[in-house]
Amino acid sequence: MTAGRSILRGSVQYLKGVGPRRAERFAKIDVHTGQDLLYHLPYRYEDATTVDAISELKVGQDATVIGRVVSKGVIPTRRRLRVFRAVLRDVTGHIECAWPGRPWLDRTIDKGDLLLAAGPVRFYHGKQLQPREHTVLARASDERGERPSGGRVFPVYPATEGLTHRQIRAVIELNLSRLLSDLGDDDPIPGGWLEELALPPLAEALRTLHGPSAVAQVGRCQRRLAFEELFFLQLLHARARARLRNEVRGIAFDAPATLTRALLEALPFELTAAQRRAWSQIEADMARPAPMNRLLQGDVGSGKTVVAALAMLKAIEAGRQAAIMAPTELLAEQHRRTFVKMLGPLGVEPELLTGAITGKARRQTLARIAAGDARLVVGTHALIQEGVDFASPGLVVIDEQHRFGVEQRRRLRESGEAPDALVMSATPIPRSLALVLYGDLDLSIIDELPPGRRPIRTAVRGPESRDAAFDFLGDQLAAGRQAYVIYPLVEESEALEARAATVMFEQLQARFPDAAVRLLHGRLSSAEKDEAMRSFLAGDTNLLVATTVIEVGIDVPNATVMIIEDAERFGLAQLHQLRGRVGRGAEQSYCIVFHASETPSERLVAFEKKTDGFELAEEDLRIRGQGDLFGKEQHGAVLLRFAQLDRDVDLLEAARRRARAIVDADPGLSKPAHRRFRHELDLRYAQREALYHVG
Ligand code: ADP
Ligand code: MG
Repeated sequence: MTAGRSILRGSVQYLKGVGPRRAERFAKIDVHTGQDLLYHLPYRYEDATTVDAISELKVGQDATVIGRVVSKGVIPTRRRLRVFRAVLRDVTGHIECAWPGRPWLDRTIDKGDLLLAAGPVRFYHGKQLQPREHTVLARASDERGERPSGGRVFPVYPATEGLTHRQIRAVIELNLSRLLSDLGDDDPIPGGWLEELALPPLAEALRTLHGPSAVAQVGRCQRRLAFEELFFLQLLHARARARLRNEVRGIAFDAPATLTRALLEALPFELTAAQRRAWSQIEADMARPAPMNRLLQGDVGSGKTVVAALAMLKAIEAGRQAAIMAPTELLAEQHRRTFVKMLGPLGVEPELLTGAITGKARRQTLARIAAGDARLVVGTHALIQEGVDFASPGLVVIDEQHRFGVEQRRRLRESGEAPDALVMSATPIPRSLALVLYGDLDLSIIDELPPGRRPIRTAVRGPESRDAAFDFLGDQLAAGRQAYVIYPLVEESEALEARAATVMFEQLQARFPDAAVRLLHGRLSSAEKDEAMRSFLAGDTNLLVATTVIEVGIDVPNATVMIIEDAERFGLAQLHQLRGRVGRGAEQSYCIVFHASETPSERLVAFEKKTDGFELAEEDLRIRGQGDLFGKEQHGAVLLRFAQLDRDVDLLEAARRRARAIVDADPGLSKPAHRRFRHELDLRYAQREALYHVG
């Protein structure tokens, strides 16, 4: 078998129908070896299984026909486009087929051939079929009397310049059986699991995906590959988690609950059930000697801050220091104000450490941190810079994990012996996506808002409602409220975006002469941006005309209206984030969203109907598909080739369960039954494992 192996491992160049020139083209779509080719799967299928009678074809229909070629030839057209045409006849009649721009087909299709063709029926001097796909089922010269009468399914492959999907299909057809026989029945997933999950073995899945006899067979086979992919990813996550828990010494916070109890008693409200659940998960984690590594997710306003405060107090009551890191100075300052109010009465004084704190004040703060006198430190990235030495770090809370990558999380971890880490995110993402992106973290979800919140009233409107909307905004300003008008970021040109916002700014200033209006966009210096935000925060500015540079987490309770322009340009998650800037106070708040197109998009309709961030995130996943969700900022994010998160949630949960169970029992994957898994992991994730490696 070793000789056979070489065609899977060997260069695609030596496969039938390839050669050095084509191999270069294959390299462009990341197909280098036979194995790559075997895993180069169709992204869609052309279903030509149901064959239509030629006499019954209707213009506008998408049809599949089978017939003999009765005449053929290349016709030049006036536009210098050369068209290959062939007339097909079946027992019911005949039709002309035309392939514009593909004159070379004249060399491969002969008179008398039995042809299957599928595509739209058009009207062009009579009915004409323009095949998207075709195949010669039998040659005129074939002696066999038997005529295939059924249709087929055409796989359509991702292609590239100079290598069409049909050429790829031909190469795969030529080589598939040899590639599969080299693979044999080798399968990294145990047969017993596949039975339980009702999934086919690997070779069967690959064979079917390249040539299903019905499109309905495809889903199950795709799920087979999806499971394998998800399982190894979860195994990677499980190992990273286990390594952190087993190899790095953590702190068991087990002091009596003095400060935490005092806070719970002092709060003017009861925790919601979701907050209680999150807090008890965190509390249990912190009490264990293994370092905590947990993601706390919840919508804006769901009450994450209180839960984080409890966690920090738990570290502090055990005699350790706690730190919370925010993405910007403004947010760090806001956190500090919140904690001063909340924790001051308990005798805990938060310290602030940001880039803006310099000179003597900075030296003093650093000294208090190093001496252990600063028990709670609120800051920005400045917290993880050189020269910041915590005397006894216990817990690090990271607010808004989307701005911090894996890398920063790791740096924090390396800075001490292994303080607990709690990552907070106000960007709800579906649980499935969280398990894929942050599978090494444990997950706490606050999926409930405190009682008595008034939902923000949302209206999605066309341009005809502008005047009414701005009148309404004027009424709110007159009543002493504050408002935002938001412009989308125009990616091509920051200058253009700034100009659009500037024009609007001038119009609004003229329209509301009594209001203090300010402009905030990406072209301003960071000092100017900061100043504009602070002025709005202080209530000196009534109306802020801004591009999306407004800060995600900023709370202005008196702001009750947000108008969003050209809303189609925003993603659903971003719209939801923006909307979360209002509705922070006691007054009813409003979000008015304008669409530029005739009718609002599906996304905007969802946004108008739903206010729950998790529901919107699920909706977003459904509408956009997952491709987009692995956004640019998610560096270190995993690309899923086969799994579809909306379809494969069950497989994801199954993969995670199995992966964690295996790693719990055998962290090194050294038992004979697990060695194959470890080998596969090495093949797949050598680089990522390095990234994960801690301490
Ligand atoms: P998040 O950080 O998740 O955006 P916050 O912690 O800032 O949310 O909470 C938003 C507001 O709700 C704060 O004013 C907070 O005091 C209040 N709050 C938090 N939890 C509760 C609760 N269980 N009941 C009532 N109000 C709450
Ligand atoms: Mg918050």
